Amino acid sequence: MTDGAHLVVDALRLNGVSAIYGVVGIPITDVARLAQASGIRFLGFRHESAAGHAAAAAGFLTGRPGVCMTVSGPGFLNGLVALANATTNCFPMIQIAGSGDRAVVDLGRGDYEELDQYAVARSLAKAAYRVDRPADIGLAVARAIRTATSGRPGGVYLDIPAAVLAEVVDDEIGAASLRCVVDPAPRQLPAPDAVERAVTLLAGARRPLIVLGKGAAYARADDAIRRFVETTGIPYLPMSMAKGLLPDDHPQSVAAARSLAMRQADVVMLVGARLNWLLGHGEAPQWNPDAQFIQVEIDPSELDSNQPIAAPLLGDVGSVMDALNRHPATPGIAAPPPWRGLLHAKVVENKVKMAARLVADTGTGPMGFYPALRAVRDVLSHHRLSHHREVYLVNEGANTLDLTRNVVDMYVPRHRLDSGTWGVMGVGLGYAIAAAVETGAPVVAIEGDSAFGFSGMEMETICRYRLPVTVVVFNNGGIYRGDDANPVTDDPAPTRLLQSTRYHRLAESFGADGYFVTTPNELEAALQTAITSGRPALLDCLIDPADGTESGHLTNLNPTVVKEPA
Ligand code: ADP
Ligand code: MG
Repeated sequence: MTDGAHLVVDALRLNGVSAIYGVVGIPITDVARLAQASGIRFLGFRHESAAGHAAAAAGFLTGRPGVCMTVSGPGFLNGLVALANATTNCFPMIQIAGSGDRAVVDLGRGDYEELDQYAVARSLAKAAYRVDRPADIGLAVARAIRTATSGRPGGVYLDIPAAVLAEVVDDEIGAASLRCVVDPAPRQLPAPDAVERAVTLLAGARRPLIVLGKGAAYARADDAIRRFVETTGIPYLPMSMAKGLLPDDHPQSVAAARSLAMRQADVVMLVGARLNWLLGHGEAPQWNPDAQFIQVEIDPSELDSNQPIAAPLLGDVGSVMDALNRHPATPGIAAPPPWRGLLHAKVVENKVKMAARLVADTGTGPMGFYPALRAVRDVLSHHRLSHHREVYLVNEGANTLDLTRNVVDMYVPRHRLDSGTWGVMGVGLGYAIAAAVETGAPVVAIEGDSAFGFSGMEMETICRYRLPVTVVVFNNGGIYRGDDANPVTDDPAPTRLLQSTRYHRLAESFGADGYFVTTPNELEAALQTAITSGRPALLDCLIDPADGTESGHLTNLNPTVVKEPA
């Protein structure tokens, strides 16, 4: 005889799931124990949303759905933030939650943690499934994996009522229900005439531009993308999680001339990138109003969602890039030298400006963001050169996010995890834990002090599993900045946080190595030591409270900025 809980674990194991991220409680505690006994790693968190974010990051990093397991009701809801975020970011993820007795829940009779979880999850996930019989568990897990991974990846909710977990069934019935998903994300080849149309458009462009998004990074088509970019000589812009797909110091990267490239490009090829708010919806004046768009995309309904797409290339990035590389006209595409020259000059000019900011000294006070990031950048590149391995970089915050993205270059694909499509806070420590668990490599999380607060207790999780994660808190004492006054009452301004908080002591109490640093040189030395130690560590970096812009680079999205009482 077997039961629902055993079948869940058997089904996950059969499909190669190697880790589950979650928080135990009624009714899933035994599922976690059984998972451990079966050889699946269970990573217990302090909050379900961090566990969910870890599962989502595992999905992005491995291309297989990360699995998060939560209890019913509030635990389920806590995890749902991550499931929705994973769906928005197109990361494959499965949230499994135990649930209550439907006979009680559906009549609103007041069950323990009563909630119609299935109905709630449906509107926030790519799909939701509920298992009503233990003999369907194999089917349900297979369906969740297929849905999470195929086409545009996303989050899938799998609801398993407590009674189904406990129900005993015959071994043979249980075994018969198990199935291993074959080729979870089948290749999707583009139509030849679509390829023809795109190549013709690119060949006639005077100012072509390629935009690489995190869908391109996720696709693991690194060689094909690089070949196309280098054969055609077309300048490219990496979106933030596509940094490193080609090394950031690649001569064709125009990241440092982003505005100019967007304003002037006449043919823009989007590769696994959406024309959403992060790209100003493709609109003027950020973009050339006459630009024509080519879009390499796996989800047909994404096309034309903002600008008309002159040449849709529907398919997976790998298959599309292969088809483009094989097209006889591709070797003849050559980005015109005047365009390349124009962008190159701007890149050089902006890099000089950036270099000046990085060495700027704030004088006697605490360091500014730029000099701090110069130290981070130097340590990371030193580590890469001496260990031939890049660390994973996790990054969230406002100014901390914007500035780190611009200062810290990436050299290998899928090593940067950040706030993503929603610009969400709270992903930091969950993402860092997943990166360490899934890859075994050192991880550095660059966190704003506010951003850190959302998942800071997971420092204990990092210590409990002894993960090689270094958390760097840029402590400027607030959201955006730390010196706002409240002109009306004695309460602190809404943006204020206590800069006197010693985050490194919090981490030390869990057993991590703590460092308190106030200068770029101290930061450099501490970060170097922390990464090489392979131990959990936290650096509390005192940053000038006056350094920081409200809303970071998104000032334009703030509806009103009230500085004085009326
Ligand atoms: P960014 O924020 O970096 O611009 P987005 O997440 O907005 O990237 O866009 C990623 C796009 O990539 C989504 O529209 C998604 O459907 C698409 N995508 C994801 N995986 C693949 C794939 N394997 N092949 C093609 N497109 C993909
Ligand atoms: Mg701050």
